[in-house]
Amino acid sequence: YIRMLGDVRVRSRAGFETERRGSHPYIDFLFIFLFFVANSEIEVSVSARNVRRLLSFQRYLRSSRFFRGITVPNSSNILDDDYNGQAKCMLEKVGNWNFDIFLFDRLTNGNSLVSLTFHLFNLHGLIEHFQLDTMKLRRFLVMVQEDYHSQNPYHNAVHAADVTQAMHCYLKEPKLSKSLTPWDVLLSLIAAATHDLDHPGVNQPFLIKTNHYLATLYKNTSVLENHHWRSAVGLLRESGLFAHMSLENRQLMESQIGDLILATDISQQNEYLSMFRSHLDRGDLCLENANHRHFILQMALKCADICNPCRTWELSKQWSEKVTEEFFHQGDIEKKYHLGVSPLCDRQTETIANIQIGFMTYLVEPLFGEWARFSNTRLSQTMLGHLGLNKASWKGVQREQSGSGDDVDPAFEEMDSDILPQEPRLS
Ligand SMILES: [Zn+2]
Repeated sequence: YIRMLGDVRVRSRAGFETERRGSHPYIDFLFIFLFFVANSEIEVSVSARNVRRLLSFQRYLRSSRFFRGITVPNSSNILDDDYNGQAKCMLEKVGNWNFDIFLFDRLTNGNSLVSLTFHLFNLHGLIEHFQLDTMKLRRFLVMVQEDYHSQNPYHNAVHAADVTQAMHCYLKEPKLSKSLTPWDVLLSLIAAATHDLDHPGVNQPFLIKTNHYLATLYKNTSVLENHHWRSAVGLLRESGLFAHMSLENRQLMESQIGDLILATDISQQNEYLSMFRSHLDRGDLCLENANHRHFILQMALKCADICNPCRTWELSKQWSEKVTEEFFHQGDIEKKYHLGVSPLCDRQTETIANIQIGFMTYLVEPLFGEWARFSNTRLSQTMLGHLGLNKASWKGVQREQSGSGDDVDPAFEEMDSDILPQEPRLS
């Protein structure tokens, strides 16, 4: 796999080399491991040719299967009209905060991201406004959906669909809806749908300590977010969805999508939050100003990305289980290869309840508190209401498990800045 990936090139008709690169952690991890076995010095991290890999891991696997004649059962045509009808029915309430993305994903046979985003493009009049070719749009969305790793318990296309749906709810809020331009809406939906593209299912500290080529490429800074953004740009160019626009506009779109996706780096939350707070204290946000609108869209995407605890308990609980499963899976690999288990990733010492209570206290509550100051609507109150109830439920679970109710995960307590735990960076 490693050898073959190193040799793959994708070149578009225009001669432009797409910027998408595979990000599966184990490939590089194996590479490093084998390298370590073969060499006494582990100093050398990644070869230049390794960095030039251009296919996402997902797409590589598919093409590899195709050339080996292995057919993967594709059940996309087995849906009967009943399912399609129910999915359509659900889309009529796509702006509802109780929207059940898991059910929608089942009804669309695992195509929630494509179906939902296509529908939203239509609903917001973007296809007409930007004269989009619907075939190209669908192709773009299918490529986006396929480049999410379905084997990730959490960071998969359903999470992206969920974030896109939440983003749509925020775009409808009165303050935003009356000032946003079609351009703003277009960028918001694309950024939401692609914000975790080709996510490898492990976090940045893991990529850094295993000398993953992405960590080298992005100099250990917003490694995943940079990769999601560059992957999105690769797909946008490859699909030709905006080929009819001027180069200037396409470049502007790419950089603004980047600003939105990079804002989802949770380790930067403090900076964004204090900026948001200062604006609200001064009362100087003016949504006629494009820069201010853009900043609010960054905050909206940040909210959409971590809004799981603000959903109903039934939905929220499922997300909590999935994200913990992904953390613990990383911890298992770290144990197996003696890499030092990252905070929150040890299934022996952590519990879902502890992790969730820490997450809500240090990250979600401060963010949504400010969001409610900015947009004091029924939706904001609903979200804060769910947040409070869900936290109380997890505290109940925690009490049952430990016999005391006030434990906050020490990994969160150790943080001097309200960020998700980061391991010391290895340079
Ligand atoms: Zn995300």
